[in-house]
Amino acid sequence: MPERSADKTGCRSEGMPPPQRRGDEAMPRVTAHPRRSVGAPPPAALPSDGAQDALEVINSEVVACTACPRLVAWREKVARDKRASFAGETYWGRPVPSFGDPAATLLIVGLAPAAHGGNRTGRIFTGDRSGDWLFGSLYRCGWVNQPTSVHRHDGLRLMGVYVAAGVRCAPPANKPTLEERDTCLPYLARELQALERLRVVVALGGFAWGGFLRAHELAGGARPRPKPRFGHLAEVDLGRYTLVGSYHPSQQNTFTGKLTEGMLDAVFLRAHALAAESRNRA
Ligand code: SF4
Repeated sequence: MPERSADKTGCRSEGMPPPQRRGDEAMPRVTAHPRRSVGAPPPAALPSDGAQDALEVINSEVVACTACPRLVAWREKVARDKRASFAGETYWGRPVPSFGDPAATLLIVGLAPAAHGGNRTGRIFTGDRSGDWLFGSLYRCGWVNQPTSVHRHDGLRLMGVYVAAGVRCAPPANKPTLEERDTCLPYLARELQALERLRVVVALGGFAWGGFLRAHELAGGARPRPKPRFGHLAEVDLGRYTLVGSYHPSQQNTFTGKLTEGMLDAVFLRAHALAAESRNRA
Protein backbone atom coordinates (compact mmCIF):
# COMPACT_ATOMS: atom_id res chain seq x y z
CA MET A 1 0.00 0.00 0.00
CA PRO A 2 1.43 3.41 -0.91
CA GLU A 3 2.38 6.09 1.58
CA ARG A 4 -0.45 8.40 2.55
CA SER A 5 -0.27 11.77 4.19
CA ALA A 6 -2.78 13.58 6.36
CA ASP A 7 -3.46 17.30 6.59
CA LYS A 8 -4.15 19.23 9.79
CA THR A 9 -7.74 18.04 9.88
CA GLY A 10 -6.66 14.43 9.77
CA CYS A 11 -7.99 14.02 6.26
CA ARG A 12 -5.89 12.22 3.70
CA SER A 13 -4.48 14.46 1.00
CA GLU A 14 -2.65 12.18 -1.38
CA GLY A 15 -1.65 8.63 -2.16
CA MET A 16 -3.89 6.22 -3.92
CA PRO A 17 -3.55 2.49 -4.37
CA PRO A 18 -4.00 1.19 -7.88
CA PRO A 19 -7.54 0.31 -8.84
CA GLN A 20 -8.52 -3.30 -8.49
CA ARG A 21 -10.70 -4.41 -11.33
CA ARG A 22 -13.46 -6.83 -10.58
CA GLY A 23 -15.21 -9.19 -12.86
CA ASP A 24 -18.44 -8.34 -14.57
CA GLU A 25 -21.00 -8.61 -11.80
CA ALA A 26 -24.67 -8.22 -12.46
CA MET A 27 -24.84 -5.61 -9.70
CA PRO A 28 -22.68 -3.92 -7.09
CA ARG A 29 -21.67 -6.42 -4.47
CA VAL A 30 -20.95 -6.24 -0.82
CA THR A 31 -17.31 -6.98 -0.17
CA ALA A 32 -16.36 -10.06 1.78
CA HIS A 33 -13.91 -9.47 4.63
CA PRO A 34 -12.37 -6.33 3.16
CA ARG A 35 -9.02 -4.84 4.05
CA ARG A 36 -9.09 -1.49 5.75
CA SER A 37 -7.00 1.63 5.43
CA VAL A 38 -5.94 4.96 6.91
CA GLY A 39 -8.20 6.28 9.64
CA ALA A 40 -10.32 3.19 9.82
CA PRO A 41 -8.94 0.82 12.47
CA PRO A 42 -9.54 -2.87 11.97
CA PRO A 43 -12.67 -4.39 13.45
CA ALA A 44 -12.33 -6.63 16.48
CA ALA A 45 -13.86 -9.44 14.47
CA LEU A 46 -14.96 -10.07 10.94
CA PRO A 47 -18.68 -9.98 10.22
CA SER A 48 -20.48 -13.25 10.23
CA ASP A 49 -21.17 -14.90 6.92
CA GLY A 50 -24.80 -14.35 7.84
CA ALA A 51 -24.33 -10.57 7.57
CA GLN A 52 -22.88 -10.82 4.12
CA ASP A 53 -25.48 -13.33 2.99
CA ALA A 54 -28.32 -11.19 4.32
CA LEU A 55 -27.04 -8.11 2.50
CA GLU A 56 -26.67 -10.05 -0.74
CA VAL A 57 -30.23 -11.35 -0.44
CA ILE A 58 -31.58 -7.84 0.16
CA ASN A 59 -29.73 -6.53 -2.90
CA SER A 60 -31.04 -9.32 -5.07
CA GLU A 61 -34.59 -8.46 -4.02
CA VAL A 62 -34.02 -4.73 -4.54
CA VAL A 63 -32.85 -5.03 -8.15
CA ALA A 64 -36.00 -7.00 -9.05
CA CYS A 65 -38.43 -4.68 -7.23
CA THR A 66 -41.38 -3.13 -9.09
CA ALA A 67 -43.44 -1.93 -6.12
CA CYS A 68 -43.67 1.75 -7.14
CA PRO A 69 -45.32 2.12 -10.57
CA ARG A 70 -44.40 5.80 -11.01
CA LEU A 71 -40.72 5.15 -10.27
CA VAL A 72 -40.59 2.03 -12.43
CA ALA A 73 -41.93 4.04 -15.36
CA TRP A 74 -39.51 6.91 -14.74
CA ARG A 75 -36.35 4.88 -14.26
CA GLU A 76 -37.07 2.96 -17.48
CA LYS A 77 -37.95 6.09 -19.45
CA VAL A 78 -34.70 7.78 -18.43
CA ALA A 79 -32.80 4.64 -19.40
CA ARG A 80 -34.41 4.64 -22.83
CA ASP A 81 -34.19 8.36 -23.58
CA LYS A 82 -30.71 8.93 -22.06
CA ARG A 83 -28.81 12.17 -21.76
CA ALA A 84 -27.05 13.11 -25.00
CA SER A 85 -23.61 12.88 -23.41
CA PHE A 86 -24.30 9.26 -22.41
CA ALA A 87 -26.09 8.24 -25.60
CA GLY A 88 -23.61 5.44 -26.27
CA GLU A 89 -24.05 3.84 -22.86
CA THR A 90 -26.48 1.20 -21.68
CA TYR A 91 -28.27 2.57 -18.65
CA TRP A 92 -28.88 0.38 -15.61
CA GLY A 93 -32.52 1.51 -15.46
CA ARG A 94 -33.43 -0.61 -12.44
CA PRO A 95 -33.49 -0.15 -8.66
CA VAL A 96 -29.99 0.66 -7.44
CA PRO A 97 -28.76 -1.63 -4.65
CA SER A 98 -26.63 -0.63 -1.69
CA PHE A 99 -22.94 -1.49 -1.62
CA GLY A 100 -19.93 -1.53 0.63
CA ASP A 101 -18.37 -3.34 3.54
CA PRO A 102 -20.45 -5.93 5.46
CA ALA A 103 -18.33 -5.08 8.52
CA ALA A 104 -19.23 -1.40 8.20
CA THR A 105 -19.21 0.79 11.28
CA LEU A 106 -20.49 3.70 9.17
CA LEU A 107 -23.68 3.68 7.10
CA ILE A 108 -24.34 6.56 4.71
CA VAL A 109 -27.95 7.10 3.68
CA GLY A 110 -28.74 9.22 0.65
CA LEU A 111 -32.04 10.32 -0.84
CA ALA A 112 -32.36 8.30 -4.07
CA PRO A 113 -30.29 7.47 -7.17
CA ALA A 114 -29.72 10.26 -9.68
CA ALA A 115 -31.39 9.76 -13.05
CA HIS A 116 -28.11 9.91 -14.98
CA GLY A 117 -25.87 8.86 -12.09
CA GLY A 118 -26.86 5.71 -10.21
CA ASN A 119 -29.70 4.96 -12.61
CA ARG A 120 -27.12 4.96 -15.40
CA THR A 121 -24.19 3.22 -13.73
CA GLY A 122 -26.06 0.84 -11.40
CA ARG A 123 -24.17 1.98 -8.30
CA ILE A 124 -25.42 4.61 -5.88
CA PHE A 125 -23.52 7.95 -5.90
CA THR A 126 -21.61 6.84 -8.97
CA GLY A 127 -21.19 8.88 -12.12
CA ASP A 128 -22.55 12.21 -10.90
CA ARG A 129 -21.37 15.34 -9.13
CA SER A 130 -22.86 14.40 -5.77
CA GLY A 131 -20.81 11.22 -5.86
CA ASP A 132 -17.68 13.22 -6.69
CA TRP A 133 -18.22 15.28 -3.57
CA LEU A 134 -19.15 12.36 -1.35
CA PHE A 135 -16.30 10.05 -2.31
CA GLY A 136 -13.80 12.91 -2.47
CA SER A 137 -14.55 13.59 1.18
CA LEU A 138 -14.59 9.91 2.18
CA TYR A 139 -11.19 9.52 0.55
CA ARG A 140 -9.71 12.55 2.29
CA CYS A 141 -11.00 11.18 5.59
CA GLY A 142 -9.74 7.63 5.07
CA TRP A 143 -12.94 5.71 4.50
CA VAL A 144 -12.37 4.66 0.86
CA ASN A 145 -9.38 3.81 -1.31
CA GLN A 146 -9.87 6.36 -4.11
CA PRO A 147 -11.44 9.81 -4.49
CA THR A 148 -13.67 9.06 -7.46
CA SER A 149 -16.71 6.91 -8.15
CA VAL A 150 -17.18 6.67 -11.89
CA HIS A 151 -18.56 3.25 -12.77
CA ARG A 152 -19.29 -0.12 -11.16
CA HIS A 153 -15.90 -1.60 -11.94
CA ASP A 154 -13.68 1.37 -11.14
CA GLY A 155 -11.85 -0.31 -8.22
CA LEU A 156 -13.57 1.72 -5.50
CA ARG A 157 -13.27 -0.08 -2.17
CA LEU A 158 -15.19 0.98 0.92
CA MET A 159 -13.41 0.35 4.21
CA GLY A 160 -15.83 0.20 7.10
CA VAL A 161 -18.55 1.97 5.10
CA TYR A 162 -21.86 0.88 3.60
CA VAL A 163 -23.80 3.20 1.27
CA ALA A 164 -27.56 3.06 0.83
CA ALA A 165 -30.48 5.28 -0.12
CA GLY A 166 -33.89 5.75 1.42
CA VAL A 167 -35.46 5.23 -2.02
CA ARG A 168 -33.72 2.96 -4.52
CA CYS A 169 -35.23 4.07 -7.81
CA ALA A 170 -34.50 7.40 -9.48
CA PRO A 171 -37.52 9.69 -8.94
CA PRO A 172 -38.73 12.47 -11.25
CA ALA A 173 -37.18 15.81 -10.23
CA ASN A 174 -35.26 13.96 -7.50
CA LYS A 175 -38.45 13.99 -5.43
CA PRO A 176 -39.91 10.68 -4.29
CA THR A 177 -43.25 10.81 -2.55
CA LEU A 178 -43.57 9.87 1.10
CA GLU A 179 -45.58 6.83 0.04
CA GLU A 180 -42.73 5.71 -2.24
CA ARG A 181 -40.24 6.29 0.55
CA ASP A 182 -42.26 4.26 3.00
CA THR A 183 -42.67 1.46 0.47
CA CYS A 184 -38.90 1.26 0.07
CA LEU A 185 -37.80 1.71 3.69
CA PRO A 186 -38.13 -1.96 4.72
CA TYR A 187 -35.02 -2.65 2.64
CA LEU A 188 -33.08 -0.12 4.71
CA ALA A 189 -34.52 -1.54 7.94
CA ARG A 190 -33.30 -5.01 6.99
CA GLU A 191 -29.86 -3.63 6.18
CA LEU A 192 -29.75 -2.05 9.63
CA GLN A 193 -30.41 -5.43 11.17
CA ALA A 194 -27.79 -7.11 8.99
CA LEU A 195 -24.99 -4.59 9.63
CA GLU A 196 -23.86 -6.06 12.93
CA ARG A 197 -20.96 -3.68 13.56
CA LEU A 198 -22.76 -0.44 12.75
CA ARG A 199 -21.89 2.47 15.06
CA VAL A 200 -22.59 5.64 13.04
CA VAL A 201 -25.19 6.58 10.45
CA VAL A 202 -24.78 9.71 8.32
CA ALA A 203 -28.00 10.95 6.75
CA LEU A 204 -27.44 13.16 3.72
CA GLY A 205 -30.22 15.72 3.85
CA GLY A 206 -33.48 16.07 5.72
CA PHE A 207 -35.36 13.55 3.58
CA ALA A 208 -32.81 10.84 4.35
CA TRP A 209 -32.80 11.87 8.03
CA GLY A 210 -36.56 11.43 8.36
CA GLY A 211 -36.51 8.22 6.36
CA PHE A 212 -33.73 6.77 8.45
CA LEU A 213 -35.58 7.43 11.69
CA ARG A 214 -38.57 5.52 10.33
CA ALA A 215 -36.34 2.66 9.18
CA HIS A 216 -34.75 2.59 12.63
CA GLU A 217 -38.20 1.99 14.12
CA LEU A 218 -39.04 -0.63 11.49
CA ALA A 219 -35.84 -2.40 12.52
CA GLY A 220 -37.04 -2.53 16.12
CA GLY A 221 -35.36 0.62 17.45
CA ALA A 222 -37.05 2.93 19.93
CA ARG A 223 -38.60 6.16 18.66
CA PRO A 224 -36.58 9.10 20.03
CA ARG A 225 -38.58 11.80 21.85
CA PRO A 226 -38.83 14.62 21.02
CA LYS A 227 -38.49 14.01 17.30
CA PRO A 228 -34.89 14.91 16.41
CA ARG A 229 -34.48 17.88 14.10
CA PHE A 230 -32.22 17.61 11.08
CA GLY A 231 -29.19 19.88 10.84
CA HIS A 232 -25.65 19.76 9.60
CA LEU A 233 -23.65 17.86 12.25
CA ALA A 234 -26.80 17.33 14.33
CA GLU A 235 -26.49 14.12 16.36
CA VAL A 236 -28.89 11.66 17.92
CA ASP A 237 -27.80 8.76 20.11
CA LEU A 238 -30.00 5.86 19.04
CA GLY A 239 -28.33 3.25 21.24
CA ARG A 240 -26.45 0.85 18.99
CA TYR A 241 -25.46 3.72 16.71
CA THR A 242 -25.43 7.50 16.51
CA LEU A 243 -27.26 9.33 13.73
CA VAL A 244 -25.38 12.33 12.30
CA GLY A 245 -26.94 14.83 9.89
CA SER A 246 -25.16 16.31 6.89
CA TYR A 247 -26.32 18.63 4.17
CA HIS A 248 -26.68 16.64 0.98
CA PRO A 249 -23.79 17.13 -1.48
CA SER A 250 -26.25 18.15 -4.21
CA GLN A 251 -25.22 20.77 -6.73
CA GLN A 252 -27.82 23.05 -5.21
CA ASN A 253 -25.89 22.96 -1.94
CA THR A 254 -22.33 22.80 -3.26
CA PHE A 255 -22.74 25.50 -5.92
CA THR A 256 -24.22 27.92 -3.42
CA GLY A 257 -21.63 27.24 -0.72
CA LYS A 258 -24.24 25.92 1.70
CA LEU A 259 -22.03 22.83 1.87
CA THR A 260 -18.25 23.16 1.55
CA GLU A 261 -15.62 20.43 1.36
CA GLY A 262 -14.51 21.32 4.88
CA MET A 263 -18.06 20.96 6.20
CA LEU A 264 -18.44 17.54 4.61
CA ASP A 265 -15.03 16.41 5.86
CA ALA A 266 -16.07 17.46 9.37
CA VAL A 267 -18.97 14.98 9.17
CA PHE A 268 -16.79 12.02 8.23
CA LEU A 269 -14.10 12.91 10.75
CA ARG A 270 -16.84 13.04 13.38
CA ALA A 271 -17.94 9.60 12.20
CA HIS A 272 -14.42 8.32 12.89
CA ALA A 273 -14.49 9.82 16.37
CA LEU A 274 -17.90 8.34 17.19
CA ALA A 275 -16.86 4.91 15.94
CA ALA A 276 -13.71 5.09 18.07
CA GLU A 277 -15.68 6.18 21.15
CA SER A 278 -18.01 3.27 20.66
CA ARG A 279 -15.11 0.82 20.38
CA ASN A 280 -13.56 2.21 23.54
CA ARG A 281 -16.83 1.76 25.45
CA ALA A 282 -17.20 -1.85 24.27
S1 SF4 B 1 -38.31 2.73 -4.87
FE1 SF4 B 1 -37.85 0.89 -3.66
S2 SF4 B 1 -39.88 -0.06 -3.26
FE2 SF4 B 1 -40.13 1.41 -4.97
S3 SF4 B 1 -39.84 0.18 -6.85
FE3 SF4 B 1 -37.85 1.07 -6.34
S4 SF4 B 1 -36.82 -0.50 -5.08
FE4 SF4 B 1 -39.01 -1.01 -5.13
